[in-house]
Amino acid sequence: MRVRVLGSAAGGGSPQWNCACPVCQDARRTGRHRSQDTVAVSGDGTAWYLLNAGPDIRTQILGTPELAPGPGLRETPLRGVLLTTAELDHTLGLLSLREAVRLSVYATPAVSAALETAFPLRPMLASYTELHWNELTDHLVLDGGLDVRRLTVGAKRPRYAAGVAGDDWVSALRLTDTRTGASFVHATCLPAWTAAFDGFVAGAGEVLLDGTFGTDDELTRTTGRPGSARSMGHLPIVESRPHTARHPGTRFRYGHLNNTNPAAGDDVVADGSELLADR
Ligand SMILES: [Zn+2]
Repeated sequence: MRVRVLGSAAGGGSPQWNCACPVCQDARRTGRHRSQDTVAVSGDGTAWYLLNAGPDIRTQILGTPELAPGPGLRETPLRGVLLTTAELDHTLGLLSLREAVRLSVYATPAVSAALETAFPLRPMLASYTELHWNELTDHLVLDGGLDVRRLTVGAKRPRYAAGVAGDDWVSALRLTDTRTGASFVHATCLPAWTAAFDGFVAGAGEVLLDGTFGTDDELTRTTGRPGSARSMGHLPIVESRPHTARHPGTRFRYGHLNNTNPAAGDDVVADGSELLADR
């Protein structure tokens, strides 16, 4: 099983174009940029799936040799996109995939409804490509021997979808290679560490966790803007880290960093990081 982080930042990336906070200024100075949250996964190293499609997707794909097209003229190893939320930083990239001969997208009913009505990306895409829109159910089997389990972890709608019904807005995914048993959990938007989530990660080889904010008051402290991490649907790192200690056989790393989050170190991913590499 292969897991590659294409983008390790939350919406806006780092540096964010209009932000002069210390983390963004440092990113400008050092050139250490983070693009927006997208992960590529493959069971057999041949058939690849994207977990979310952010606005930086074109550059991310061009920088990932495993996703290069060929040998057929329009042949691509990309078999589909799984959406864990309907947020713009997870869905805008679909529009950049419109050149595909065919495109498979997997989304929950709530996410699908948002992208059908509030932000009609689905009908727009269908005008450009042969669009296969599938329900992201609680259990899926994908090409390349990938078994996918889904857990609803949050009910926060994107701002643009305030009037859209549904409750399965935010998903965690557990992907297992059916031949080797290797498994990876993707939870870059995690509002709370529930008993259900604890069971979901138990025994996984590696988990990519919500690293949006280091602390609950980070955004207000840095920018003066109101809003705690929890109120925005993100469990801060200081609160999830104690839970990870109860799973010593599982490696936890943080992604989806907001540009205000200076977190660094072995348990923070960068663009291009390969997960499960040592498993
Ligand atoms: Zn900033």
